[in-house]
Amino acid sequence: MRTVKNYINGNSTAISTQTIDINDPSTGEKIGEVIMSSKEDFENAVQNLKKAQIEWSQTTPLKRSRILSRFKNLIEDNIDELASIVSKEHGKTFADAKGSVTRGLEVVEFACGIPHLLKGEFSQNVGTNIDSWSVRQPLGICAGITPFNFPAMVPMWMFPIAIACGNSFLLKPSEKDPSCSIRLAELFTEAGLPNGVFNILNGDKSIVNLILQSEEISSISFVGSTPVAKYIYEESAKFGKRVQALGGAKNHLVVMPDANLNQAVDGIIGAGYGSAGERCMAISVAVAVGEIADELVNKIQLESQKLKVAPWTNSESDMGPVISMEHKNKIEQYISTGVEEGAKLVEDGRNYKIQGYEKGYFVGPTLFDNVTKDMTIYKEEIFGPVVSVVRAKNYDEALSLVNNHAYGNGTTIYTSDGEIARHFTTNSKIGMVGVNVPIPVPMAFHSFGGWKQSLFGDHSVHGMEGVRFYTKLKTVTSRWPKSIQSGPEFVLPTN
Ligand code: NAD
Repeated sequence: MRTVKNYINGNSTAISTQTIDINDPSTGEKIGEVIMSSKEDFENAVQNLKKAQIEWSQTTPLKRSRILSRFKNLIEDNIDELASIVSKEHGKTFADAKGSVTRGLEVVEFACGIPHLLKGEFSQNVGTNIDSWSVRQPLGICAGITPFNFPAMVPMWMFPIAIACGNSFLLKPSEKDPSCSIRLAELFTEAGLPNGVFNILNGDKSIVNLILQSEEISSISFVGSTPVAKYIYEESAKFGKRVQALGGAKNHLVVMPDANLNQAVDGIIGAGYGSAGERCMAISVAVAVGEIADELVNKIQLESQKLKVAPWTNSESDMGPVISMEHKNKIEQYISTGVEEGAKLVEDGRNYKIQGYEKGYFVGPTLFDNVTKDMTIYKEEIFGPVVSVVRAKNYDEALSLVNNHAYGNGTTIYTSDGEIARHFTTNSKIGMVGVNVPIPVPMAFHSFGGWKQSLFGDHSVHGMEGVRFYTKLKTVTSRWPKSIQSGPEFVLPTN
């Protein structure tokens, strides 16, 4: 049985001997252990990161880019292995895991352009014979704390750009599925990344607190649930750190009466139940506008019944288990609460059993109709394969649902009316908005981030927002005067 250690200075290592179990979500069986790092592990990591960063920041962006380029090739060469590691520990289907590694790979591709991305600005003659330029310099040691649901993609939203910018990076992956990030770090070393530039520390909140309080660490990138994101944001600010903390979500898909209903249903099924609903961009609310509601609910029900729920090893699986027994129980409790509060349970995924996998953490596709905005299942993030249909009289009511929800990660509208679509993209108070696409996840060269309770901080992740987040701006004003002494000036110069 494998023990997942830390990755420090180019080696798999750990001082702590304390571990917790890693379980296979399909069978419920223990498949490994992960080290819970100690203060000594943390201090060792920081010393390495600090030393490595000095030389790395002096490595030219072009040389950094070449290492990233080799890293990109190695990810491509090993993508099946990386995806299987994700599936084994997370439970998502192999194809979905592979897709998520690819989305991470795209950030590496973006970061390969770092010589171009770091180009500064230059103004000649900002005053007489005075030039001024701005450059972006690395922060130092940057840290990332990531969730269980995308063990490859979310870390890759962060470390390729931070490292490309000349920082060293400390990753604290989810303790539930830590192995993929270790493999990524090994590949980065193989690509030529100097030891110590990318270190990984495993553990839980106690190691997170050491990261937040460290004077050596300059920035925190966090992705996870909203209560923890808020805590990370406040705590990081207390210790003078730059912070971006992405939280939970409750994404609405609005179906207008003029929408292509079959396309909308496909969108709801894929984005609602894909990855067992454990995506921050999952569609958890379908807003049925006007008279289409009955037909929409019938079609979602029919399609949800066709889904194949199975372990990732079954190539026909559409969705696998959820991450843990604790999470399965929580989702099933939400379903019971929905029933108690008066929502109509159309498909019930509780007590879902698969022959041969009776101890797996499976929840079947679940569908509620007649959900209202005061219900718990509407207000809170369930993070499971549960879709709630809310009926709205008209477009204005649908938009107001979207805008008044506490979360603001993603939303999308299905319609054939360009004017409505434009009104929606302009007026929805949400970070990522789609039109006739189910999951409007921005590509690596744009930036990913929500609004309201879905993101605390000023910067989204990756794209130019990532480059800005992982660098400090410096502006230089320079004059090379002749040796004529002009005397001190007491008035602010105006030209
Ligand atoms: P989580 O908040 O439980 O854990 C995230 C990370 O924080 C993990 O590394 C964990 O070890 C650490 N952590 C947990 N509790 C902590 C505490 N009290 N103090 C300090 N650190 C702590 O999240 P999760 O269950 O791993 O992931 C699911 C959540 O992540 C969902 O809410 C989902 O919406 C969200 N998510 C958001 C995005 C986004 O882009 N907005 C993307 C993916 C996931």
